Amino acid sequence: MTDITSQSLFSLVNKIKEKKLSSEEITKAFIERSEKSKELNAYIFEDFSQTINKAKKFDEKPNLDLKLPGIPIAIKDLFCTKDVKTTAGSKILENFIPTYESTVTQNIWNEGAILLGKLNCDEFAMGSSNETSFYGNVQNPIDKGLVPGGSSGGSAAALSAQLTPVTIGTDTGGSIRQPASFTGTVGLKPTYGSCSRYGIVAFASSLDQAGPMAQNVEDCALLQEIMSSYDSKDSTSIDFKRNQYSKELTKDVKGKKIGIPKEYRVEGMPKDIEDLWQKGIQYAKDCGAQIIDISLPHTSYALPTYYIVAPAEASSNLARYDGVKYGFRAKGENLIDMYEKTRSEGFGDEVKRRVLIGTYVLSSGYYDAYYLKAQKIRKLIKNDFDEAYKKVDAILTPSTPSSAFKIGEKKDDPVSMYLNDIFTVPVNLAGLPAISIPAGHDTSGYPLGLQIIGKAFKEQEILNLAYAMEEKISFKNKITDWWIK
Ligand code: GLN
Repeated sequence: MTDITSQSLFSLVNKIKEKKLSSEEITKAFIERSEKSKELNAYIFEDFSQTINKAKKFDEKPNLDLKLPGIPIAIKDLFCTKDVKTTAGSKILENFIPTYESTVTQNIWNEGAILLGKLNCDEFAMGSSNETSFYGNVQNPIDKGLVPGGSSGGSAAALSAQLTPVTIGTDTGGSIRQPASFTGTVGLKPTYGSCSRYGIVAFASSLDQAGPMAQNVEDCALLQEIMSSYDSKDSTSIDFKRNQYSKELTKDVKGKKIGIPKEYRVEGMPKDIEDLWQKGIQYAKDCGAQIIDISLPHTSYALPTYYIVAPAEASSNLARYDGVKYGFRAKGENLIDMYEKTRSEGFGDEVKRRVLIGTYVLSSGYYDAYYLKAQKIRKLIKNDFDEAYKKVDAILTPSTPSSAFKIGEKKDDPVSMYLNDIFTVPVNLAGLPAISIPAGHDTSGYPLGLQIIGKAFKEQEILNLAYAMEEKISFKNKITDWWIK
């Protein structure tokens, strides 16, 4: 079983193309391992018999020209899947069965992939630890009792536990990169407008982006190449020339200029993280890159700005969950009472907190003081990056200010939870692409990631840098299979 599940996506695709493995054999191996991995709580929904049927059907008439021929893939339960339950980790969508498919998932099915199941996530992707899911928290395969990060926690856990060869997540403020960092995997948040948002349950529409998560950079590049497309169904989708990311990958990054932003050296940064960053700088130099000190002066405003803009958009997006149009409905004495009870019982605490903050900052008395100001600062943050990119090609930082923390450790302290996003949110505010690659371990032996931030639409550049650095780092994930039953 593990001789199949431990293989890279590229290797599985080749085995199918060379007819050394069938889709059914591969699918069964991932299902068998998934069934033994219930303790991780990585899945919200799966229908493995259906998945096997699809694999068998693929094998009957295999189309080997496709990029993901018969490859089973589990995905974050934030992507709408036609006729398959989609919950966004919320009770309010507990019985929601979409009548349409998200563009990003459609793109991967069009290349021959098969849906393995829907993966756990924070409720409406609000969280950094997967503890806000109505369907329970997810365990990090690295160690029992650790969070896998969030909000794509189920995706990261399933990937690092080898329950799926690759997966897709969404990143509004770090939800691909932070869990990738916590589980020793690779995660790419593409440029805003690169992957269609059509059919993704909306959290904060000006920040949300779908992206690939994989065991290595090459697999990540292949998945991005398939996911990313111009889509007229998303008004913010951008029509630009997309690369064949996996085919154009190169380790030749000699002379590339990499910026090190001094403002990311935040107060109280643990020594493990500082050491990792220094090592990262050395790896980049070893690849032939040139290191340049830069300044992103408005960095310290990014977190408060994000935690105004994101809840504002969330409060507006989540207004549609009223017990009439979607999912769960509570009984009420009259219409207003039904709305109130549905939303009170259907949403969890974190979602309610965001709706309250969002409604407050958008209210007429406080709009100028909070929301408008946050929008102005967002522009300054974007300008900082534009300025820096006159001097450098990419920026290197740690992905997170710590390794994976314990389940329960930050749950009742939202501010300390939000601080975990300190290195990731500026990227979303500026709409830029960024990748997290595993780069080392802390003193407890838990994985740590480095983040490479690129210029808009320059996914290829950061993938290349990551590809080159990955070889120098030669990271090995310490997975012990402790959860296998
Ligand atoms: N942790 C951040 C939040 O809770 C980011 C979430 C995300 O990227 N979806 O808002």
